[in-house]
Amino acid sequence: MAKRNVKLKWTLLATYMLIGIVPLLIMTQVALSSMQSYFVEERKKELLQQANIISGHISISDYMYDEVKAVLFDYDINQTSKESGYRIIVLDKTGVVVNDSNKTEEGKTYFLPEIVDALNNKDVAKVEDNDTIHAAVFIVDDRSNCIGVVLVCGSISDIAENVDAIRHTLFNIILLLVIIVIISNTVFTWWFTNPLNRTIDVIKKMSEGHFDQRIPVNDFLHTELAELAESSNNMAEKLDQIETNRQEFVSNVSHELKTPLSSIKVLSDSILIQDPDTVPKEMYVEFLRDINSEVDRMTAIINDLLTLSRMNRQEVELQPVEINMGDMVGDIVKRLQPIAEKNNVTLSFDKIRTVTAEVEETKISLAVSNLIENGIKYNVDGGKVDVTLDADNQNVFITVADTGVGIADEEINKIFDRFYRVDKNRDRETGGTGLGLAIAKSAVLMHNGSIKVSSKENEGTTFVITIPVKQG
Ligand code: ADP
Repeated sequence: MAKRNVKLKWTLLATYMLIGIVPLLIMTQVALSSMQSYFVEERKKELLQQANIISGHISISDYMYDEVKAVLFDYDINQTSKESGYRIIVLDKTGVVVNDSNKTEEGKTYFLPEIVDALNNKDVAKVEDNDTIHAAVFIVDDRSNCIGVVLVCGSISDIAENVDAIRHTLFNIILLLVIIVIISNTVFTWWFTNPLNRTIDVIKKMSEGHFDQRIPVNDFLHTELAELAESSNNMAEKLDQIETNRQEFVSNVSHELKTPLSSIKVLSDSILIQDPDTVPKEMYVEFLRDINSEVDRMTAIINDLLTLSRMNRQEVELQPVEINMGDMVGDIVKRLQPIAEKNNVTLSFDKIRTVTAEVEETKISLAVSNLIENGIKYNVDGGKVDVTLDADNQNVFITVADTGVGIADEEINKIFDRFYRVDKNRDRETGGTGLGLAIAKSAVLMHNGSIKVSSKENEGTTFVITIPVKQG
């Protein structure tokens, strides 16, 4: 058997992780990055707004051209930067820094892409590599000509820090969830696997031949597992039964064969101890005749056993053919008529309906012959055996009713058992092997039919075979 090494525990854990934790991780990541983008966009708007205010203020105050207002310009820029917390740089239309709230860049020329855009009358806000946003807005004179650019620079490191803090908290929560999942998985798996392991242990013992083992189904919580255990118990019971039957069968066969063998031994011994010169020839003949009849008996038993084993071989499929049942039963009755006459029994056949059925003729013939032969064998002098054939839309009914010795109520359930005989001595005289009814039953069951018996002691017995007209 191929060994599979993945334990249920790990499969369940992987499943929980896959459907519980992984989507949670992805969702968290997506939510956090959307949150970050949102805050950055808001910050850009804020910076652009700020830049616009300053640009408007510069236009109105005429700071760019009026040298006298340079101090005021400086003061305004410094004050606004201090209040907003942003660095403010003002450039003229040639890209030269005319004012810087940090005072480090004045006089330098800046040609950042956002400044070029703003000089072309396009306000822009851009995130730079060093966690800052540059918002550039153009300044116009009273004739709406672009005379410079306001560049407002603000940091976004606070946004990243806040989002990181939220991320940290969420990941801690997820970690806690992972721990809870692992613990609950261990508990759940134990709930599943404990009864499963117990079932497996018992099944292993059963496979070693301990069919008396049973799984304690009542302890199981889950219906499916309890059903599995119950099915295993039923299987064990069946195996137990099969084993008992097998042992019984072997002992029955041995016993049945031993009886004629012992007779042969006794007969041959008793001839051998005689003085051959004094023993008359008739005595030899008589002994040999007895030995011969014991051999016949053994042959009959072995033949019946072979028939039964052929019937019970599951791999042999039934090969049903459409048969005229009236003709089939009629032939059997005709064949058995001489035996009936010899036993002084009247054998009759009544065909109520003409019917064909899908059957394997040899098997069903054997079943019907066995029933009729029994009806003749277990009859009384001058008795009757009536065979009737009837049918409805679905089934054929073959009834064999005799006026013979009958079967006692306590015996009737056992007569289909192999080697069962009501009266062992009488049956030895009649040559019965105790296998005829077992063979008949097997044949009928193979055709999905049934065989029923009703009987009254000293009045007679009736067997009814029911077979479906169509197989399958
Ligand atoms: P056997 O070879 O002994 O006839 P069967 O299996 O055919 O074996 O029958 C089993 C036993 O059932 C018989 O030994 C007999 O005691 C009883 N039995 C079967 N058929 C009849 C019947 N028609 N009337 C009375 N007893 C019967």
